Amino acid sequence: MFVDRHDDGAVLLSTTITFADLGLADPLMRAIADAGYTVPTPIQAQAIPRVLAGGDLLAAAQTGTGKTAGFTLPILHMLLGKPLELRKPGRPRVLILTPTRELTAQVEESVKTYGVHTKISSMVIFGGVNINPQTSALRKPIDILVATPGRLLDHCQQRNVDLSGVEILVLDEADRMLDMGFIRDIRKILALLPRQRQNLLFSATFSDEIRELSKGVLNNASEVSVAARNTTAERVEQTVHMVEQAHKRDILSHIIRESGWHQVLVFTRTKHGANRLAEKLVKDGLSASAIHGNKSQAARTRALDDFKKGKVAVLVATDIAARGLDIDQLPQVVNFELPNVPEDYVHRIGRTGRAGAAGSAVSLVDSSEIKYLKAIERIIKKQIPQLPAPTGWTASPASPHSADDDARAEGRRDGPRRPPQRSSRPASSTGSGAPRPARSGQGAGQAPRREGQSSGRSAPTGHAPARTGAGGPVRSGSGPNSPSPANRSRRPALFNK
Ligand code: AMP
Repeated sequence: MFVDRHDDGAVLLSTTITFADLGLADPLMRAIADAGYTVPTPIQAQAIPRVLAGGDLLAAAQTGTGKTAGFTLPILHMLLGKPLELRKPGRPRVLILTPTRELTAQVEESVKTYGVHTKISSMVIFGGVNINPQTSALRKPIDILVATPGRLLDHCQQRNVDLSGVEILVLDEADRMLDMGFIRDIRKILALLPRQRQNLLFSATFSDEIRELSKGVLNNASEVSVAARNTTAERVEQTVHMVEQAHKRDILSHIIRESGWHQVLVFTRTKHGANRLAEKLVKDGLSASAIHGNKSQAARTRALDDFKKGKVAVLVATDIAARGLDIDQLPQVVNFELPNVPEDYVHRIGRTGRAGAAGSAVSLVDSSEIKYLKAIERIIKKQIPQLPAPTGWTASPASPHSADDDARAEGRRDGPRRPPQRSSRPASSTGSGAPRPARSGQGAGQAPRREGQSSGRSAPTGHAPARTGAGGPVRSGSGPNSPSPANRSRRPALFNK
């Protein structure tokens, strides 16, 4: 029986079960104490005994519930009970599959944290980086391999890794792996595993696709769930501001400044959108960087590190890049655009309010996104309070946000469709992955617009000048209507303090 303790304690939830009750080996108990955990979270209290008993498990747990320790701790315990001599080079005994590079790195970090007082070895494999160092590392004996499916298959094809000794398989964030189109890779990997093995499948939700996948992977699995289907983290305060798409960047700059946010994760729907927004925020004097699939692994790691250390206040991310980011005590998430897949909203706001901390999620919603808002409210089964549009912000010259269609390039089945007619931008500004100048952006579905031509949507060109009423910008200086170079380079007055 679990007792939710919804006070402001550092621990997510208290349970009547203690770590001592779980019977974990002494080196693990020491690591748990080092980490400062006092009681198991509900997913840990439910999953750990079941994994230790040796059965298959289907677990529904959102990020932030402590699920990683929920499978890592019992796995380490079981490996401790087996002689280390069984290890062979390139032949892992445990395989943990995750959807993204960042999650892979984080899961392995957890393996190292909880296994710090043991001799159990682990390594990560993910794409986007040179394969050779991974190939060399695979020549050593290895207990736990944490991998993304694509690069793992590359290694299997090159015979760098032998999966015939896998005793335990974990599919972490399985729903995301399906969303990202990894099902075929997963099936290929399953075919390389021994039939006799223990299987653990973790997913934020139990969708029909997950149930289908679990039928093919799990045998007589027990099922645990710590969150009702698609419910949002209860401790996250959610609000919506109805604003025009073209005003979002300026409003966001303003809110960040006014609220004094020092660590905020901002979601955009596309990679290009993430780049352009980060550039704009930097121009506004904020420290910001973007993280998405087109960036090199080194750039992503650096951006995440800087954000975690507080060197960068604003991290702009796409859904897939942000997947699995574990940033302690992240107080603030902003949806610059609502996701068109409602479940992504649940994942996004799951970044905040983690491990018991209170969090807040603000969504900037344009009228064209109301359909997404309604879909989200349907799945979270509540209405998100709508606040009046922020006032007092300063409109910069034309810079409507462009919702490029590159979600599909990140592997999403359901990314937004590219409008049939593309811009007649010069070739130099259309290079794949290269951020375009902020002023050349186009609104989604708008007619192509040449550089320097008014969009007709942005506040300075599309509205009466110098309006300060509710929801409106504060205009500074004279005549910002013409996008002259001088106007383009001028910083909004509010930010020049
Ligand atoms: P996860 O859901 O695995 O991403 O974990 C979310 C966060 O909860 C991580 O920062 C963990 O360090 C933390 N955590 C995991 N287990 C516990 C626990 N028993 N008590 C307090 N924090 C925990």
